[in-house]
Amino acid sequence: MSGTELDLLPALALARSAVDRAAHHRDNPQWLERAWADASTRVVRVADGRAATVGDPPVLDLGTRPDVPAAQRIFLGVDEDDVAYFAAEVADDDESFRGLREIGWSLGDRDAGLLVNAVALLNWHATHQHCPRCGATTEIAHAGHLRVCTVDGTEHYPRTDPAVIMTVVDSQDRLLLGRQATWPAGRFSTLAGFVEPGESLEHAVRREVGEEVGLVVGAVRYLGSQPWPFPSSLMLGFSAHAETVEVDRFDGEIAEARWFTRAGLRDAVGSGEMLLSPPLSIARRLIEHWYGEPITDSGEAWR
Ligand SMILES: [Zn+2]
Repeated sequence: MSGTELDLLPALALARSAVDRAAHHRDNPQWLERAWADASTRVVRVADGRAATVGDPPVLDLGTRPDVPAAQRIFLGVDEDDVAYFAAEVADDDESFRGLREIGWSLGDRDAGLLVNAVALLNWHATHQHCPRCGATTEIAHAGHLRVCTVDGTEHYPRTDPAVIMTVVDSQDRLLLGRQATWPAGRFSTLAGFVEPGESLEHAVRREVGEEVGLVVGAVRYLGSQPWPFPSSLMLGFSAHAETVEVDRFDGEIAEARWFTRAGLRDAVGSGEMLLSPPLSIARRLIEHWYGEPITDSGEAWR
């Protein structure tokens, strides 16, 4: 086992942040009102998952205060200079509005963290307008970090759906990559799947690998995580040691799975025969973690 394999994944594009969430301010309406009115305050304006940007390469355009009622202002936190950050869904957008997949990996730490947080929360609000207990409408509370049923008063918190994603490596240090049935030929990535209720992360890794490619997994090691708000996942990255190598029993999700040596992967990517996940993804970082260094591709990576 090489030295790099003992390390965790390096900085992941969507797992960065430079703003303190300062949760103690969320239930203080006077403080929030003062912060919103302060000239230094910055607001992430989001329309349907895309945020207002400026410049090239783009940065978030945070200088405009949209006209939204107090309840619709999502408080994101405070930076080290005491500047407060909010997010708000706006109806009007233009060509300056960009999505996380487009700009998530070129943004700086502050903007990447703000945008991931804003998009994840606004996705949740958009799809949780009704109480799961009684069906009545819910109202936004705690500066956007809670919804409360207008009839029975039950509290509903933003949800995050854990998913495991893993490199599967055999005793010869080969990497298994799969192609989903819905993907075009040549597109390969790591296996992944959602954690089921009542399941540990390690169990989810073993179950997913077994269901998708029929391999028996031994040791499972955690490598890092990255929020993936499309719409609300948290990707938990692992390395899984395969104790068997015979790939079979496809559950239909994976159409093709292949073992790669490092030289084989390099050749397949270099010749354009194979397309890897984009650099923004934890899948790409996991593959590079096994490979030992960043992989140069043709730039044709799918997004
Ligand atoms: Zn209710």
